[in-house]
Amino acid sequence: MVVVDLDGKGGRGKPAAFLRYQDHLVLYRSFEGIRGICHTHSAHAVAWAQARRGIPCLGTTHADQTAGEIPCTAMISAEALAKDYELGTGELIVETFKARSPSRCRW
Ligand SMILES: [Zn+2]
Repeated sequence: MVVVDLDGKGGRGKPAAFLRYQDHLVLYRSFEGIRGICHTHSAHAVAWAQARRGIPCLGTTHADQTAGEIPCTAMISAEALAKDYELGTGELIVETFKARSPSRCRW
């Protein structure tokens, strides 16, 4: 685990070659209520994302964690991809959540 401030500075810990956090910083800066981000590529979540579909709320276990569907973002644009993939990804996630009804969004 690497600890950085909201500007991405002051890293402590052992950086890994695959370390990504710029997208997370965009989320922390955009949503005050975020207390942590768990970034995973679980097989089932990836399947939904690859199908370009949000994950519907089908039960109480899901409902305990989030209110409603877990959204899938639009595809990142070629321009954002070429410019800064991590930053563009973070901005896309923010746009997606902000477009949702606040009543369905705990963040
Ligand atoms: Zn990822």
